[in-house]
Amino acid sequence: MIRYGAADGIPRYESEGTKVTQKSLSGFCKARDWLVCIDSDGTAMDTMTVKHQKVLGPCLIEEWNLEQWREEILARWDEINMYTSTRGIHRFQGLRRALKEIHEKYVPIEGIYCFDNWCETESTLSNATLKAELERSGNVCLKKALHWASMVNERVESLKIEEKQPFEGFREALERAAGQADIAVVSSANPEAVFTEWGYYRLLDHVDVVCAQDCGSKEYCIGQLKNKGYESTHILVCGDALGDLDATEKNQALFYPVCQGREKESWGEFEEGFQRFLAGTYEGGYYEEKKERFKKNLS
Ligand SMILES: [Mg+2]
Repeated sequence: MIRYGAADGIPRYESEGTKVTQKSLSGFCKARDWLVCIDSDGTAMDTMTVKHQKVLGPCLIEEWNLEQWREEILARWDEINMYTSTRGIHRFQGLRRALKEIHEKYVPIEGIYCFDNWCETESTLSNATLKAELERSGNVCLKKALHWASMVNERVESLKIEEKQPFEGFREALERAAGQADIAVVSSANPEAVFTEWGYYRLLDHVDVVCAQDCGSKEYCIGQLKNKGYESTHILVCGDALGDLDATEKNQALFYPVCQGREKESWGEFEEGFQRFLAGTYEGGYYEEKKERFKKNLS
């Protein structure tokens, strides 16, 4: 059940809430022959720009005292995280890239080798594993990375819900798809964020199952959904990053790209793609061209 916060009017889900359990992967059963999986950040929800430009980038400048090179570093941060092939990169891997470049180009980053090594070898990059490694090594770069990550979480949470809106045309596409297919959210965001954002904009009503960060990688989640009994070519995954395409192809499913900077156009073209998907005419020239345009847009 949805409980509206008295102070801000934002819907929150009770920890014992029925919505959460109703839409869990384990409780989900296939109802239709077709499944549409939808990524959240940067695909359905226009959240990446605000998060990176208002929070992640500025927190990097603040934590490492980089004010002197602010504009250049922020522009490069956006390129790494949003505008190139690494779009959607894990936040610690994005930080690792940015710090290495800053170390080489602007100013030495103390203890960077330890953080670089942690990113290289740790299989689960999270605040908890970072904290454990910091306690073991006492490294200053790990300490700063952890402080940066905590600051980021706090500030992302305090962004207003109105700053995290669905892309234009997404609601119509979702409603259209939900009329004929089962709908899954497949996102690496935390489940609270997905439920809050999708709930607030009444998108959750059209969703059958939510697979967020806590369910595992996107490749794993798509695989688990496939195991519910869908044919590979009856699964359409909507995503905005090359990682989404990769997770789709590893499951032999079909991919519908939402192109960065052209999200409205991408959702506007969804009807044709969805019709082809249902008719079994998605693969071939149409699909190859879509993928080609998507990759070119991020190069
Ligand atoms: Mg995304």
